[in-house]
Order: sequence, then C-alpha cells, then structure tokens
Amino acid sequence: MSLNENIYELQNEYDKMNNCDVILNDNSYKCELKKLKKQFENFKVELINKDESLKQIKEEIVELNNNINSLKKEIEDGNYKLYNKSGANLKVIDIINNKLDNDKKMLVELDSKIIDMLEREEKIQEERKSLREKLVNIKEEFYNYKEKESKKINEANTDKKLIEKKISNIRGSIPKRYLDIFDEIKSRNKKAAVKLKDRVCEGCKIQVSAFTIDNINKDNEITFCDNCGRILFSDKRLENK
Ligand SMILES: [Zn+2]
Repeated sequence: MSLNENIYELQNEYDKMNNCDVILNDNSYKCELKKLKKQFENFKVELINKDESLKQIKEEIVELNNNINSLKKEIEDGNYKLYNKSGANLKVIDIINNKLDNDKKMLVELDSKIIDMLEREEKIQEERKSLREKLVNIKEEFYNYKEKESKKINEANTDKKLIEKKISNIRGSIPKRYLDIFDEIKSRNKKAAVKLKDRVCEGCKIQVSAFTIDNINKDNEITFCDNCGRILFSDKRLENK
C-alpha cells in the first residue's frame, strides 16, 4: 500500500473505532432496561392490589351468603309461627307479618348486593388476567432487549480490539513524521484524512486548486486541502483542468 493509501486506511479504522465507541458509550441501553424493569414492578404492584381486592370480595361474599342464609331461616321461622303459633291473636299476627315483610325486603337487597359482588369479582378477575399477560410480555421484552443489546456491545468490544490491532499495524507502516502530521490534524478535526471527490474536499466541501490536484497526481507525498488543511486522498488520477 502507498503512503496515501495507508493514511486513508488509518483514518477509516479510526472512524470504525469511533462507531464502536458510540455503541459502547450509549446509555440508552441501561435507561431502557431500567424503564422496562420499572414498568414490570408497577404492574406487579397492581397485580398484588387486585389479589387483595379479590380476597376482600370473596370474604364479603361469604359473609353475605351467611346473612342470606340466616335471613332465610328467619323467614321460615316467621312463616311457621304465623301458621302454627299465633292462633287468632291479631296483634301477634301483625308483628310477625311486619317482620316477614322487612326480612323479605332485606333478602331482596342482599341478593342484589351479592350479584353486584359477583360481577365485581368477575371484572377484577379479567383485569388480573390482562395484568398477568402484560407482566409476561414485559419480562419477555426485557430479556430480548437485553440479549440483543449485550450482543451488540460484545461485538463492539471484539471489533474494537481488532481495530486497535489494525491501527497499530498501519501506524507501524507509516513514517513517524507523517504520523505526527496526521495526529496533529486529528487532534483538531474528527477526520484527519478525507477523500477528494470531483475535486471537492469531503472534509470542508470546497473545491481544491489545480496545484493541489497536481500534487495528488504525483502520489509521492501527502497533499493537504487548500482550505481546511486535512490530508487529501484520491484513489484515481485526476484530470487537471
Ligand atoms: Zn478541505
């Protein structure tokens, strides 16, 4: 490889290294994982709350059923007293009838209450089911994302090591005085060496002079952009117009 090719190759490797660093320094990975974890925790709390509500409703239903059963018993007793024990005492008959009316009204109320409770229970069961599905999905999303991103990070780490080796090899084949120039320009610009395309420097996007093109065509020494001072590279001879 010629000196110019080596310098341009060196720049390419630094660009690749830069891409690896962007991946390695990207914090969005950890943020995204944190976000998913937080969502998971929130759903879990919601699920626990649903379980607690369900438990309460079940207890209330048991209690309501007990009340309904004892009320039914009272009504049965009332009816028995009415036909067997009250005799012809109108006052007693009245009292028993009143109590029976009240008990029956209360029974209707309790029945409708228990229906409400059962409906609520069903609704919470459904919400619980959808929460469980959400939890499973988030867990899956979390692990998939983690796997994908760790793979990317591992690849970037492996690539970086190879690139470092390659950079050191290329640097070994470039004379020190040119390396110094390259490093000095690189300390000021992201790219020290750029391509010349249609006589325009890819670094500053400005057309270079005929003198510079002449220099490039000689291909025996490095050439700088007239405008930005970056090292220019061209893989073909250019027409000097
Ligand atoms: Zn330039």
